[in-house]
Amino acid sequence: MNVTPKLVIGNWKMNGLREASLQLATAVAEGARSLPDDVRMVICPPFTQLDRVAEALEGAGASVMLGAQDCHTAVSGAHTGDISAEMLADTGARYVLLGHSERRQAHGENDALIRQKVQAAEAAGLIPVVCIGETMAERQDGRAATVLASQIDGSLTDNFNGVLAYEPVWAIGSGVTPSREELERTLLLLRGLLQSRLKMDDIRVPILYGGSVTPAQAPTILSIGVLGGVLVGSASLEARSFLRIAEAASLRLSSQPLSGPYRS
Ligand code: PEP
Repeated sequence: MNVTPKLVIGNWKMNGLREASLQLATAVAEGARSLPDDVRMVICPPFTQLDRVAEALEGAGASVMLGAQDCHTAVSGAHTGDISAEMLADTGARYVLLGHSERRQAHGENDALIRQKVQAAEAAGLIPVVCIGETMAERQDGRAATVLASQIDGSLTDNFNGVLAYEPVWAIGSGVTPSREELERTLLLLRGLLQSRLKMDDIRVPILYGGSVTPAQAPTILSIGVLGGVLVGSASLEARSFLRIAEAASLRLSSQPLSGPYRS
């Protein structure tokens, strides 16, 4: 049976000095050797550690790939402090996170800018991982669906062929996750929104979940068959936790029964 591999992406955020980064990436690459090929891991270190992590991942092949946390819209030029998608690709990165809520909030990034970054990433041959998600206030006001729809409409390109990461802002770093039922409902909603945005019935865009994913919660979250994988923050800073989450993503290792609307 041919299964689409689940993606388990680690976002190190602004963490990682030279030695610690090398050790962590090496430990993940070693641990990933015993994972079945129905799971693919991605490590997104800070820019300063991309080269070092790339070296640690040499030989890991598709089991652990390199990603980055942001890129500029331009290819090169007078943009002090910025990094282009082409520069990321040059380090060996295959993925780039775009529109993370911390960038939307702390750097004022809006959907139009994120869409230009998606275009830049696509042009450089990177796979964009576009993050969307509602805040707690939007959720409580019953506006989550509207917010998600407008983020999808505004930040994706017309021929988007990357990855969508649903990261409710209230779940990030909070230790709180949506219930399995709630997540299943949201995933159905997101599939519908993608179908109408991309004008296609057969959507191949994997949808990941992110927000306080730990080894304890991962089996429940990842037992939702339609979920394309997870985006992991803090738990990706420890090789063992990150690898345990990847193990939970493997259908071959996990015997979790599927249930709910995605049972097939
Ligand atoms: C994130 O910020 O992308 C994230 C998922 O963080 P955490 O897992 O720490 O909630």
